[in-house]
Amino acid sequence: MKITVIGTGYVGLVSGTCFSEFGHEVTCVDKDASKIKALENNIMPIYEPGLDSLVARNVEAGRLNFSTDLKTAMQDAKAIFIAVGTPSRRGDGHADLQYVFAAIEEAASYIEDYTLVVTKSTVPVGTGARIKARLSELLPAEKFDVASNPEFLREGAAIEDFMRPDRVVCGVDSERAHDVLRELYRPLYLNETPIVFTNRETAEVIKYAANAFLATKISFINEIADLCEAAGADVQEVSKGIGLDNRIGSKFLHAGPGYGGSCFPKDTRALVSTADQYGVPLKIVRSVVEVNEERKRAMAAKVIKACGGDVAGKRIAVLGLTFKPNTDDMRESPSLDIIPTLQEAGATIHAHDPKGTEEAEKLLKDVTFHNEPYSTMQDADALVILTEWNQYRALDLDRARKLMKDGILVDLRNIYAKASPDKHGFTYTGIGRGA
Ligand code: NAD
Repeated sequence: MKITVIGTGYVGLVSGTCFSEFGHEVTCVDKDASKIKALENNIMPIYEPGLDSLVARNVEAGRLNFSTDLKTAMQDAKAIFIAVGTPSRRGDGHADLQYVFAAIEEAASYIEDYTLVVTKSTVPVGTGARIKARLSELLPAEKFDVASNPEFLREGAAIEDFMRPDRVVCGVDSERAHDVLRELYRPLYLNETPIVFTNRETAEVIKYAANAFLATKISFINEIADLCEAAGADVQEVSKGIGLDNRIGSKFLHAGPGYGGSCFPKDTRALVSTADQYGVPLKIVRSVVEVNEERKRAMAAKVIKACGGDVAGKRIAVLGLTFKPNTDDMRESPSLDIIPTLQEAGATIHAHDPKGTEEAEKLLKDVTFHNEPYSTMQDADALVILTEWNQYRALDLDRARKLMKDGILVDLRNIYAKASPDKHGFTYTGIGRGA
């Protein structure tokens, strides 16, 4: 089937490429000409493991194209996927839908034959109905349907998640829309992936409910970590002890510096804001947002406390800047709160990240960025681990300690909790380890 994907970011590029891998003919469109030019030269505008070879293979097979020209891209397309950003709107936390509606308006002018318009972007419940209403003003009803097909992929494992998802959710209000999506996802039926067909509103709520639930697990375990610290317990053992219960599950129970990224922060805020509009106070999700915001502030205070209550004039080595490993995405990363707070308190920051430096350079001021972890530690008073990249899991602690002036290790991901860093001359502070 021929399809067009509007928005060639983390979601659009991965979904478009994976649909082409399924055998469909895909054109990915972006208004950012530099992204399209890079892709035409097989240079990925984002870091996602395995993406470059999958793109190259499908481009070579003639199933995957990139363009800035939506009109040409939409010729003969049976479905268009909207995969543009839905960031937080300034002030009220609602999802900013301006990019979605700009894409819809433009696409509407090129629809000739029946086309299924699918939102892959995360949009608040009721957006599909608004899109339908807007398209009805521009086009005859028989020319289009509007479906919701929210995306659940995780950055860093996006290809695996798209090709072998836990489930696919499709919100439709017509047989025709159902048939188009069923045909598109047919390769997944073959390996028995659950495909949940429901109405559009339900699909829209499923996406936010899923993200809010996962964010809730994170804020929950972060609060439990604080209790563990105060009461002499160990949060990692608590996570294990509760996670072994199948009703709870072990995922998303790692205490840390708070959730970040392009989805959980904005989606939890948007869900609260949407529910407010419907007169439904989502008290749990509201608390999750509050706990997470406080968490990031508390982490800077934790580093300062570990440094004896004062970081003025101190040199701090930071390992990891992205919100999680295996991505270059810096959006709402805890590092963007923690580092400026340490700088305001007088610290000098030296930092390393395997993939995030290019983005971080745009967002963080007065940080010295290094190409490898050990040079960040030279003459440092403290070492802070912010992101659990694999390459930080087996650092040579003796070498690290020799490079550093003072042996303060603040491990906000608990990756050295069991490695006895004190034996290597470090004073260790982890998360939720009161024992
Ligand atoms: P992104 O910012 O990486 O990409 C969006 C792209 O859309 C940009 O390249 C931008 O130039 C392009 N764009 C915007 N308006 C356009 C237009 N009118 N025409 C053509 N291109 C246009 O965003 P993302 O991270 O891929 O997220 C996209 C959506 O998917 C969001 O709603 C997000 O919440 C959702 N989502 C993201 C993830 C994730 O892990 N990033 C996972 C699931 C869902």
